[in-house]
Amino acid sequence: MPRLQSKFCRMCGGSMAIIQPEGDKEWRHVCNSCGYIDYFNPRMVVGCVVEHEGKILLCKRAIEPCRGLWTIPAGFMEIGESSAAGAERETYEEAHARVQVLSQYAHWDIPVIGQAYILFRAKLASPFTFSSGPESLEVALFDPASIPFDQIAFSSISITLRHYLQDMASGQWHLHHGVIDKVPGAAPNDPASFQLKDHFSMPVTLSQQ
Ligand SMILES: [Zn+2]
Repeated sequence: MPRLQSKFCRMCGGSMAIIQPEGDKEWRHVCNSCGYIDYFNPRMVVGCVVEHEGKILLCKRAIEPCRGLWTIPAGFMEIGESSAAGAERETYEEAHARVQVLSQYAHWDIPVIGQAYILFRAKLASPFTFSSGPESLEVALFDPASIPFDQIAFSSISITLRHYLQDMASGQWHLHHGVIDKVPGAAPNDPASFQLKDHFSMPVTLSQQ
């Protein structure tokens, strides 16, 4: 049975219980007063691997979780925007960087925490500047050889960057898909706590790089 995530009904303010509604295989949050079912579904994280002159843009997180560790610009998709527009928005918010999205790069599912990542390849666009947004302590361009893999915030980002560097080195880009299997309760960046399963990749050719 899942743990209770909302104590009160968003429709009537009544107390919530976790029960298995008739005919439903899952446990649900159900209001004790009006019977409203509050569904908790996976959330979509969108972001960009931003490249500029052979270097990759990373942000040092100013917020928990993983404050002080590095990540690519990414965050939760908002209602009313496309995944690519959300990735561009997150990049501007976290790194004050304008980008041009080139293609989708990866889709990772992380079932144990109910998240799906949709990440894009992007290049820095005019005026080619960047600086720390409120959620970043520092924003910097990293040469592929100097990416601080021991200080990357999340398993998904570490996996993304490793594949990105391989594609970059070979010159053959791919669209990647896979499932990140995490040990429940593990720290977000513990390298021993996750593995990539069911990975497949499709070669991608862009008409414009
Ligand atoms: Zn209710």
